[in-house]
Amino acid sequence: MATRILIIEDEAKIARFIELELVHEGYEAQKALDGRTGLEMAEGGGFDLIILDIMLPELNGLEVLRRLRKSSQVPVILLTARDAVMDKVSGLDLGANDYITKPFAIEELLARIRALLRYGSRLKAETLSCGGLTLNVSSREASCDGIPLQLTNKEFTLLQTLLENKNIVMSRDSLLERVWGYDYMGETNVVDVYVRYLRQKGVGAIQTVRGVGYVIKDERQ
Ligand code: CA
Repeated sequence: MATRILIIEDEAKIARFIELELVHEGYEAQKALDGRTGLEMAEGGGFDLIILDIMLPELNGLEVLRRLRKSSQVPVILLTARDAVMDKVSGLDLGANDYITKPFAIEELLARIRALLRYGSRLKAETLSCGGLTLNVSSREASCDGIPLQLTNKEFTLLQTLLENKNIVMSRDSLLERVWGYDYMGETNVVDVYVRYLRQKGVGAIQTVRGVGYVIKDERQ
């Protein structure tokens, strides 16, 4: 059965563009052009993922998300305006799984969709892996080439975040936000420090992308 994605976006051109790209990728896509219709369709169920714009007529995206989360844990990617930091914060608080800032490259949106769908299926398995690296999310045990890794809570979460976003370059800011929280006020190089800790403990899979951030790549792809 095809993976079904709902696009809730009032700008018809953008909605149509995303729809065409999704269909091209083999997904089944449906659109809603206002928040109220979008919420009704989302609550109707049957979608594997929802792309939700924040600035919407009838009901804004955050309100749609707030109401939807009362009954559904379907993965949601928010579309936010550039610099709308509060929207991202509120969105994550309300249970959005990810967000992407407009204007975005369609490739990035597609990569985030793939990561989230993969994450959803992995959550059931509760195991994340890449190469020799394996993380059990429920027992919070990690191993590399069969050898157990002794990781602190933050080290584990950082590694988990990178594995959940496998093949996507994660900026320091987005890692900081996801692992330490958006209200983190400490040193901004904390991400680099923790990547170093992980490497010292034998995690060789984290690649540095100069000037951008970090990524764990699945070399088989
Ligand atoms: Ca809009």
